[in-house]
This record gives sequence, C-alpha cells and structure tokens, in this order.
Amino acid sequence: MKCCIVTLGCQMNQSDSERIRSVIEGMGYAMTKNEEEADLIGVVACSVRQKAIDKVYAKIHRWNRWKNDRPLITFVSGCILPADERKFLKLFDLVFRMNELPELPSMLQQCGIATEYSLRHPLEGMERQDERTDFWLVDPAYSSAFEAYVPIQNGCDKFCTYCAVPYTRGREVSRASADILAEVQRLVDRGVKSITLLGQNVNSYGLDKKGKEISFAELLCRVGEIGNASDKDFWVYFTSPHPRDMTRDVIEAVAGYDCLAKQIHLPIQSGDEEVLRRMNRNHSMEAYLKIVSDIRELLPTATLFTDIIVGFSGETEAQFAHTAALMEKVEFNMAYIAKYSPRAGARSAKWEDDVSPQEKSERLARLSEILKRTSLAHNQAMVGKAFRVLLDGKDRRMEGALTGRTEGKLPIRVLDASEELIGTFQEVEVTSAAELSLTGRLVK
Ligand code: SF4
Repeated sequence: MKCCIVTLGCQMNQSDSERIRSVIEGMGYAMTKNEEEADLIGVVACSVRQKAIDKVYAKIHRWNRWKNDRPLITFVSGCILPADERKFLKLFDLVFRMNELPELPSMLQQCGIATEYSLRHPLEGMERQDERTDFWLVDPAYSSAFEAYVPIQNGCDKFCTYCAVPYTRGREVSRASADILAEVQRLVDRGVKSITLLGQNVNSYGLDKKGKEISFAELLCRVGEIGNASDKDFWVYFTSPHPRDMTRDVIEAVAGYDCLAKQIHLPIQSGDEEVLRRMNRNHSMEAYLKIVSDIRELLPTATLFTDIIVGFSGETEAQFAHTAALMEKVEFNMAYIAKYSPRAGARSAKWEDDVSPQEKSERLARLSEILKRTSLAHNQAMVGKAFRVLLDGKDRRMEGALTGRTEGKLPIRVLDASEELIGTFQEVEVTSAAELSLTGRLVK
C-alpha cells in the first residue's frame, strides 16, 4: 500500500507533513511521490494563501475522478480556515487538524483502510500533557538527512489585520522545552547540520506558560549549550520572530554561542507608522530600528532578512516612500516582498483593496531594485574571502556545480564540487557576486 503526501505551504506545513508521514509509515504504508500509484493521498495546505487553496481544489477534483476506477482514500490537513474546512468535508474522505494527528490511524480505519495494517496509537505508552500539542510527541520522518525543522510553538496571538493564521492555527501554545531540547539533541547526534526552530512567533515562546516555561532567549542558550557540549558542527536558525518580542537578550544569546547562526529574519511589513498601526503590528519604527542597531552592534557579521507587503489597503504613495526609505537605511540582505491581497478570514479582507494592481507591481519593482542594490554591495564585499558553506544540492543550471548556503543563508553556487559533498560543510572562497547570489570554489 502506498501513500502520497502533497505539501502546499510554508515550513510549518512541511514540518506537519513530516509528522503525518511518520504516523502513516507506522501503519505500514510506503511513501511515494507519484500521486497516480497511491492508495492514500493527502494534502497538507495553507488556506491562508489563496494560490494553495486553488491548487487543493484542482487536486481533489482530479483525485475524486480517479475513484471511479480504483479504491482511493483522500485527506487534508494543515492550516485550514473554518469556511474552507466546511467545503473540504464534502470533497475529502478525511479532514483533520494537526492536534488530531494521534487519532489518524483510527480515523483512517473508519474510512475503510485494510485492517491488517497496524492501528497502534502513535503515542501508545507515552506520557501525554496537552491535547493541543500532543502531535509534537510523534517522532517526525524527516525529509532531509542534514536539514531539519523543529517546531517550538504553534498558533498566534498577534492578530495582524492582514493575516488569517490566528484563525487557522488558533492561539499561541509553546511546546515543552524539554521535548524541544531532546529533539535538537537527537538531530545533533544524527549529524544534522542545519536546524530551524519554527513557530508563527518564535520569540513569544514561553509567554503562554509564564513562570512554568523558560523564555525564548533561555531556550536559545540551552540549545547553544548543546552545541558547546558536542563535537559536531551545526547551525541553528529560528523563524519567524516578531519585532514586538525581539528583546536584546535574544540577540545576546545568538551572539554567545557558535552554533546559533548569525542570521536574523525580522519581518517589518511596512516602514510607515500609520500602516503598521492599521496592520496591528503593535510596534513603532523607532522600536524596529533599535533592534536593528542592537543586531548590528552584537552580531556584526549577521545577515538581516525581512518580509514586506506593498499596497496594503489604504497605503498612500507617501506611506510607501517611508518603506522605500527604510530599505535604503537598513540595507537588508534579503526581503520577501509581496503585493497585498486580501485573505479570507483576516480583518483587512473587509477593507477596500484600493491600491491598483499596477501600482502594487510598480511599488514591488521599486523595492526590488533597492534590495538588489544593497544586496549586491554586501555580496561584492565577500569576493576573495573564504566562508563556511553547507552544500545542499546539485546545481540544476550548471553541470558539475553544487548549491549551498553560507551561515547567513546567502545562496552560493560552488564550482567543481562533487556530489558526495552534499550535506557537508566546506570552506568556499567567493569568486564572484551577483545581486542575490554568490559563486565560489572549494578551498583546497
Ligand atoms: S504575527 Fe501577524 S503575520 Fe505573523 S502569524 Fe501572527 S497574525 Fe500572522
């Protein structure tokens, strides 16, 4: 019996898929990437993104047609808005939320899967604490041998007006730090090279369990101690933090341990105070710039990434100009710039989407130009120097070259490197720089 899981969403959805896969493999299914040969097909999607939801509909209509010719069971999970959930219930055999994952074997049995497969409860014999987070006790089937995601927190209490996550994943819940640290230790022992601590708001970690759980800064320090005590090399990242909870002790923790990678992704979304207020971001530009100056002071080699939305409801040209000025000032290494589009379920979906598509495209192009310029200047300063690089795959565009990332997550093409090096750290000398990438060769 074969199962195919399609993941359409962010790293959190990928992490969810790894745990779903583990439960399904535990039932005796073999995984396949080929939907056409699967007896069980699932999709882990993000209904926050309209594109992902459109894909889900296209897929389920196709899969339901296949049911005329052969037995097939379908399921959907992930970040699903209640309105989509109601529609999916009519289309899929099974719709479940991640906190219901431990019950998946019995739910599938009710859908008619062959009973010779193991229906053992995946958490049998384990001490369970909180039914909202028990799914984290499932040992994931990691999809990479050298990179892994470790969820530390689920849900969000911030209620940014453009975002539907608090309605799909619910309120913030922190995972037990003992479980997080045990998972990190296991990954380190296995030789994993890159670990990303995941959450919608990683740096509000522990706030929902004040007094009973450690803070995010303390969690980072304990991960750092794992690095100090180990003879293995690895980098630990976290994403995404919220500026409101980005305290100086978090930056100090990153500065204090070699294994904590010197790369910070700090979403800003807009450089205008009024737009930030209407987005309900709950921080000022002054506060954001103070964090940037703390990062520059304590982590002088760190790269800085951000997320920006252009053309938010009501954004004027003058307000947009403040975002452009911010980008000039901060000189981000990378910015994920998105044109605003209303998300069903989010508060701003009720507001007028009044910036024209042409204007949004033009604003995005202007910010991209600034990004390319500042990133190029940074990358050019790296030419002629050697950096540690984690090689992560074959370069699809150049025969004999590999792709990799620096500690600061800058993509680099490494020439004349053999495939056996994939999944290892190597010293690479940067030989040339482009706007958003680097090229280099191995230091012999
Ligand atoms: S912080 Fe804002 S953007 Fe991020 S998940 Fe929460 S509501 Fe969404």
